[in-house]
Amino acid sequence: MRCLVTGVAGFIGSTLSERLVAEGHEVQGIDAFTDYYARDQKERNLQNLRQSSRFRLVEGDVASLDLAPLVEGADVVFHQAAQPGVRGSWGARFSTYVHNNVLATQRLLEAVKGSRVQKLVYASSSSVYGETPDLPMRETSLPKPYSPYGVTKLSAEHLCELYRHNFGVPTVSLRYFTVYGPRQRPDMGFHKFIRAALRNEAIQVYGDGEQTRDFTFIADAVEANVRAGLGDALGVLNVGGGSRVTLNDVLATLGEVMGGPVAIERAGKQDGDVRHTWADTSAIQAALGFAPAIRLREGLTAQVAWHRALG
Ligand code: NAD
Repeated sequence: MRCLVTGVAGFIGSTLSERLVAEGHEVQGIDAFTDYYARDQKERNLQNLRQSSRFRLVEGDVASLDLAPLVEGADVVFHQAAQPGVRGSWGARFSTYVHNNVLATQRLLEAVKGSRVQKLVYASSSSVYGETPDLPMRETSLPKPYSPYGVTKLSAEHLCELYRHNFGVPTVSLRYFTVYGPRQRPDMGFHKFIRAALRNEAIQVYGDGEQTRDFTFIADAVEANVRAGLGDALGVLNVGGGSRVTLNDVLATLGEVMGGPVAIERAGKQDGDVRHTWADTSAIQAALGFAPAIRLREGLTAQVAWHRALG
């Protein structure tokens, strides 16, 4: 299979690409190395891939690159590139979210339209659901984002759906629920918690800690992508980790994994943060036979080991 992976230097894109290359597929990766976090971390993510003859990197912006020749040779496109992060999506930075999440996706869909691409897998997000009492979250629920980031992820998902319905572009949107594990972005909760604990600093917890998240280990998110790329399913599917826990429980487990309780400092709730996320994964189970395999303790242990190895 010849794959085109956008956002290839990022947390999920690089891990997915390593799995694809290891299984004998060819990967052409695109990344703009946006400045949301340090290029050093993204370069480290690419270290193994760069050693493979089946990998090629194109540095550039999906919203402005000439995409036709890149899409032409591809069987499957995994669209991971985006400006992530809920909290930074307010105010002046919103235009960055519109550019990288909405415009880039529309340009990619235009390029894929009429091509030989057999599947376009779009990295959507649980943030499209917003603050809902309707739990667990189902693909049939009315999406109602609670942050500007969620609005842009939903816009791009709608674009995928309408290019599918109007032009037959074979899209499948995977709504990831908080992905964690080695290479996690430095702005994400577990990364910040583990980094602080390793430095013997207090972990900052927003709100009362009783908010819940459905955490998905990176290998499970990658597995869902591979199945979506190869399988027949189209449309929108949740990708949950089956580990819905309160933040306070996460911190207790983290203390056990790290060999001692972690210090906590409470801070106010953040704008755009929802109270709960919880995925109903029956649709992806039925469509692609996907079920998450890694439990929270095991996943956290792997992420702590990665942080320790980084020093
Ligand atoms: P990441 O920031 O680590 O990776 C995204 C990569 O895309 C970065 O390397 C960035 O440089 C690149 N990029 C951004 N805009 C680009 C553009 N216009 N052209 C080319 N490259 C561009 O983020 P991640 O955590 O790996 O997330 C990957 C995808 O999954 C994103 O679409 C994100 O919205 C989605 N997602 C992630 C999570 C999660 O928990 N990590 C949850 C839900 C959805």
